[in-house]
Amino acid sequence: MSAYDDDNIFAKILRGEMPCHRVYEDDHTLAFMDIMPRADGHFLVIPKAPVRNILDADDTVVANVYATVAKLSRVALKAFSADGVTIQQFNEPAGGQVVFHMHVHVIPRFDGVRLGPHTGDMADSAVLERNAEKLKSAL
Ligand code: AMP
Repeated sequence: MSAYDDDNIFAKILRGEMPCHRVYEDDHTLAFMDIMPRADGHFLVIPKAPVRNILDADDTVVANVYATVAKLSRVALKAFSADGVTIQQFNEPAGGQVVFHMHVHVIPRFDGVRLGPHTGDMADSAVLERNAEKLKSAL
């Protein structure tokens, strides 16, 4: 497995060198909207620690990330009146990972609505900001 690379896009977001639609932050984690959402309200939770994925993260980092995932999943249900959430986390290229700073996807889901494909289309920034605001209001 390759070493952690400080030049990845989420490391730049953490350093404030790249913008994001921020949802939540604490001492150990940051959550922001996914710019190519698979459904309305799709966001990511990342650790502040420089880890590539779950394979090199220590248990404390994993626990901190998933504590935020659980907290924000409940917030997402309330914010979007969703029926459920899908949580995804990819590890290494073979596991579908594209950005090599650990991240967990949280995707609000509705009964009877299928998950959209990962199209690679960037969402409208105003829509992302509106969804980030909805999540923040429900915190
Ligand atoms: P994966 O590594 O397969 O989990 O995919 C990376 C995810 O990060 C994809 O869902 C992208 O839409 C998302 N993404 C990539 N760049 C950014 C960015 N600058 N801000 C927010 N989300 C991003």
